[in-house]
Amino acid sequence: MAPATGVFVAALPLRGAFTSSHELLNAGRAMADALKEPLTAVLLGGHLSDQASELMERGADRVVIVECEALAKPNEELQAAALAQVFGGGAAKVLFPSTVNGRSLAARVSVLMKTGIATDVFEFAVEAGALKVKRAGYGGNIISEVTFSSQSCVMTLQAMVWPPAPRTAGKTGATDRVPFTPGATRTEFVAFEGGDSGEVDLASADIVVSGGRGVGGPDGFKVIRDLAKALGAAAGASRAAVDSGWIPYRYQVGLTGRTIRPKMYVACGISGQIQHLAGMSSAKTIVAVNPDPECPMMKAATLAVVGDLHELLPLIAAEVRKRKGA
Ligand SMILES: Cc1cc2nc3c(=O)[nH]c(=O)nc-3n(C[C@H](O)[C@H](O)[C@H](O)COP(=O)(O)OP(=O)(O)OC[C@H]3O[C@@H](n4cnc5c(N)ncnc54)[C@H](O)[C@@H]3O)c2cc1C
Repeated sequence: MAPATGVFVAALPLRGAFTSSHELLNAGRAMADALKEPLTAVLLGGHLSDQASELMERGADRVVIVECEALAKPNEELQAAALAQVFGGGAAKVLFPSTVNGRSLAARVSVLMKTGIATDVFEFAVEAGALKVKRAGYGGNIISEVTFSSQSCVMTLQAMVWPPAPRTAGKTGATDRVPFTPGATRTEFVAFEGGDSGEVDLASADIVVSGGRGVGGPDGFKVIRDLAKALGAAAGASRAAVDSGWIPYRYQVGLTGRTIRPKMYVACGISGQIQHLAGMSSAKTIVAVNPDPECPMMKAATLAVVGDLHELLPLIAAEVRKRKGA
């Protein structure tokens, strides 16, 4: 295969889903167009029968397929070696998602490619042919600008900044298959054990019910969880609630927590400071419950309900259950 040139998206299935790859394809398409370079998706895995066509329908000009039984299980050493083999010494700008796996893999690939890396990128521009990116560092406390001086580089892109690339049925492109011979590894994938909480996942939920300092304490999250359960929603929280130790960090929404884009976000007892809004303001519908009609969340809300969450949420949950016939 010729040396790799252009923008590359690492399409890695996360427990069977390619959601983050679809966001990368959207950003990658815009980057490739700005650089006047092709966009290639690299598909790694064990059994990759029909996934290439969707990547092309979502914007890739070309799909490079590295199919190998050893890649069926997510071993980062092997994935990084396979990707580095594809990019070789070429001029590849490689995009990964800013997930735990994406970051780890991006670091390994940048070392193997002997090139620079920028993580948590949320904006890019092309100036005089050079790629310039903005990235968030130190939990969002600083924004730095990085200009890549070489033609090859590695980036991880923040989740939910670029929406998933739309699908154009029937759009085709080139496909290349690259053989891969796995070498010895020092790590072995044993098993994936998902959480057994039975809760709806915050990152992918259509509806999120979040609580802030206004819930008043750890027990205040009972009404939040109860409404979330009635709606089939995920529970979320503001940093004030997390920092108070009322709910674990994994529920935090915002600049230093999760960025989400649900169909509906119900903010209860959350004032709506900019760092919280950064994580949820692209929700289609925002419902706010707060006694203060002037707070930023009530101003940002599609539906602002003035009142005490402890009085209102149980009533809303009961009405939802009644309407659902539960
Ligand atoms: C670098 C940095 C990063 C940050 N990252 C994040 C982040 O990721 N996520 C995040 O959330 N914050 C983040 N913050 C913190 C952020 O600035 C706010 O401090 C935080 O969001 C406030 O949380 P809150 O709205 O729950 O609390 P408050 O601002 O104290 O608001 C509480 C709200 O509850 C209402 N209330 C009170 N009683 C009731 C009641 N009975 N019923 C209904 N409502 C009631 C009040 O009217 C008020 O509006 C960050 C800050 C910094 C500096």
